Amino acid sequence: MLLQGRGPLIYEAGHPVWKKENNRDVVILTRSFAKLNEEKVFKDPVHRYIHVRERLIWDLIGTAEFQRLRRIRQLGTTYLTFHGAEHSRFGHSLGVYEIARRIIDIFKYRHDWDDSETLICLCAALLHDVGHGPFSHSFEKVFGTDHEQYTQAIILGDTQIHRLLEEAGDGFSEKVADVIGKTYENRLVVSLISSQIDADRMDYLLRDAFFTGVSYGHFDMERIWRVMRPAGDQIVFKLSGMHAVEDYIMSRYQMYWQVYFHPVTRSAEVVLTKILHRAKVLYNKGFTFHYQPVPLITLFEGEITLKDYLKLDESVIMYFFQVWQEEDDPILRDLCSRFMNRRLFKYVEFTKEILNHFEELAGAFRMAGIDPDYYLDVDSSSDSPYDLYRPGEEGEKQPIKLLMPDGSLRELSQESDVVGSITGKRRTDHKLYYPKDRVLALPDQSIAKKRICDLLHIR
Ligand code: CA
Repeated sequence: MLLQGRGPLIYEAGHPVWKKENNRDVVILTRSFAKLNEEKVFKDPVHRYIHVRERLIWDLIGTAEFQRLRRIRQLGTTYLTFHGAEHSRFGHSLGVYEIARRIIDIFKYRHDWDDSETLICLCAALLHDVGHGPFSHSFEKVFGTDHEQYTQAIILGDTQIHRLLEEAGDGFSEKVADVIGKTYENRLVVSLISSQIDADRMDYLLRDAFFTGVSYGHFDMERIWRVMRPAGDQIVFKLSGMHAVEDYIMSRYQMYWQVYFHPVTRSAEVVLTKILHRAKVLYNKGFTFHYQPVPLITLFEGEITLKDYLKLDESVIMYFFQVWQEEDDPILRDLCSRFMNRRLFKYVEFTKEILNHFEELAGAFRMAGIDPDYYLDVDSSSDSPYDLYRPGEEGEKQPIKLLMPDGSLRELSQESDVVGSITGKRRTDHKLYYPKDRVLALPDQSIAKKRICDLLHIR
């Protein structure tokens, strides 16, 4: 950029500084570190407003890779259980950015924060989920993709996001990727984005509670921010804020079991996974689709490029589910119709008894003409609401520490009876999913029907 009559415009810590060098007027504009002339705001139902002051953040939001997150739901198939859960990963990503921004503001006010880390931290907060695809978990199961790898690839690869980050400085994109990958040397920055109590979790708990409409999941986030203190390489919480932290842990526990692991949501996910699996099998067998899944072909062939991956979103996937209801393959047709019209699988507890008779059960399905590869599935949910440090799981599972009035640190479950009672307790749930309607539609004299009903205690 050339400005007449002035020296190079140099931005330092976000503020433009004019300098004259060799009497030349060439201006090198490190535009990314610049502040916007006017603050931009997004209206947000959870945080009221999301404030953007850095040009880089504003530009990142405007990239094609980030805008794509508008077309990916934060909670995948949950909208089939809680119809309000239509919110996108776009809103969540802005929310995580906003929480990080406000926490940093509080830290800065207390002179507890190295300001040279601010922009890296804000970028990492904004971009931490950018590699998510449509219905990530089902895709990962069927195609072996990994959204975390794609997040890294988008930040480091041939993308608009990468180019913007590199404009901010050589190697800047790598630093952002390292924060998200949890290898960044400043652990404080990492723990703001990923730890047992971080900006990501705070946003999704509140946001998902808001959009699903459930009454649990709420906690006093601002109170938590106020009692957060950087201590060496981690963030600790003042003892006086312990009850707000307890509330956060309990809300997380409630949300997992009431929303995230809801069996109807899991059922929708099972059906979705089976559709993708069936489409892949058909493609590899040379099946002629009336509606060729062009954007999915490289995925079926196991060699999808980043460019193709970025073309996928939920609208694309749902289009195929819609039109595949008219394909010639009865399994693909039926599964798509089930998903689109919410005729999901029913479930029973996957007991030891069923496990011991699983082959017999699958045999009875086969005998009844219901392919168990597509119509019988076990899904397991497992979570521990709060965990102590476990070797090999560093970062995610660092225990939460309380800052005692005498300046010492104490692990949360030592001080809190509520948290102590659930610490390290892993709850696991196994359910068996199957199309009950298909079973009940079998003729009464069918031996297969009788066996299935006996094994699954259907009457
Ligand atoms: Ca997230």
